[in-house]
Amino acid sequence: MTTFAELGLAPDILRALDEMGYVSPTPIQEQVIPRALQGGDILGAAQTGTGKTAAFALPLIQRLLPFASSSTSPAKHPIRALILTPTRELAIQVEEAIQAYTKHVPLRSLVVYGGVNINTQIPILKTGIEILVATPGRLLDHVQNKTLMLTQVNTLVLDEADRMLDMGFMPDLKRIVALLPAQRVNMMFSATFPEEIRKLADSILDNPTFIEVARNETAVTVTQVMHPVHHERKRQLLAHLIKSRDLRQVLVFTGTKLGCNRLANELNKAGIHADAIHGDKTQQERIKALDAFKAGTIRVLVATDVAARGIDIEALPFVVNYDLPHNAEDYVHRIGRTGRAGAKGEAISLVSEAETRYLKDIEKLIGSTLEPVIVPGFEPGAADVPAYQSRPPRHAERSERPERHERSAPRSKPAAPRDALFDAPYVPGEAPRNDSAPALMRSAPKKQVAALFRSPVKPDSAGQ
Ligand code: AMP
Repeated sequence: MTTFAELGLAPDILRALDEMGYVSPTPIQEQVIPRALQGGDILGAAQTGTGKTAAFALPLIQRLLPFASSSTSPAKHPIRALILTPTRELAIQVEEAIQAYTKHVPLRSLVVYGGVNINTQIPILKTGIEILVATPGRLLDHVQNKTLMLTQVNTLVLDEADRMLDMGFMPDLKRIVALLPAQRVNMMFSATFPEEIRKLADSILDNPTFIEVARNETAVTVTQVMHPVHHERKRQLLAHLIKSRDLRQVLVFTGTKLGCNRLANELNKAGIHADAIHGDKTQQERIKALDAFKAGTIRVLVATDVAARGIDIEALPFVVNYDLPHNAEDYVHRIGRTGRAGAKGEAISLVSEAETRYLKDIEKLIGSTLEPVIVPGFEPGAADVPAYQSRPPRHAERSERPERHERSAPRSKPAAPRDALFDAPYVPGEAPRNDSAPALMRSAPKKQVAALFRSPVKPDSAGQ
């Protein structure tokens, strides 16, 4: 087993890692650290949860050690490393990690992101900091205000580059890169490599080493299961799973901001303490919800993809896809929140008939099929819709639209009339028992999944 010392890290960094309980490097750290210590450019194919933050941060810190100074003069602390992330949450987490890694060295770091008063960030920038973690928009605000200088930057990190592309940051990135000195080390990380990301890599990186860890593969420690269910019954099924399996620290993904709020409210009404984070929440609200979730005071955090990006919670045990993502790569990102750095996790997807096409895309991307497990009482053919939910669907409101980067959601079909569903004959499935699935659940062979949605069940098996 390789140790961090064998990778060539300095004693002050090793001490910090030891205090954090990092025993040995993860595969991406083993590959990236020695190469980055030599000063070569890196293109990393790695998703969140692989330990990629330390992979780029540790060599970056070590290469700045000759510049570390206890001087209080701001001139002694110019920005030397710039780390760009797509979201505030990820920026905060990366900077927190850097704070921990630099505990025993006099290097200063700061995180700047939008959505908060820019004036609070200026006094700290004025004191001088060597490592800046930023979201692209806010960084450019500071550049425009002349509240920071990028002329001494010798290392650039682009974290979750594909997310930055999705979120429309490409023009900002290009502007930022044009402001940096030409002589620098570059590290770019992305979970996926669409054409535009490859072009960006070509334009920024100089003869990079390509390091790939579990690209487009879901972490092996994550158990993935999917429950076929009528879309009207998802909320009840989720509440049932949480209560019957006594699930705690559950991160639930919804497709829209409105759906996110609504689900959190419904769960609270069902006695399950939940909060919601999405793009319409203020930064303070998001941080508060995240902290309460991390501390275990709220049991369920309902989130949209944009808000949840980069969320880092030690050994997050459960991720639920309440709505399947329309973009298969988001599935990989979502379930990257669980089973992190070797911890075990479970990814649960609730799949309605209308979502089977997204399921196919996901299965194609991850190269395996998700095992369908039917929860008794929630057979997919049956809706058991409370009267208030049986109204015809409203037209989508603005806040009901998917968040920025997502593709538009299909209009939901009106619920099938309850009686018609219940009047149909019950077709018992020939599904074999699945020993690895939680007790009381039945697993269905793959080919039957589409058919599952067309098999209404008799009324007495549909109740909760
Ligand atoms: P990341 O992929 O960078 O978001 O890291 C995922 C999680 O793994 C974070 O909580 C890290 O603190 C943790 N981690 C990273 N590297 C190691 C390591 N070598 N040993 C133990 N935990 C680690």
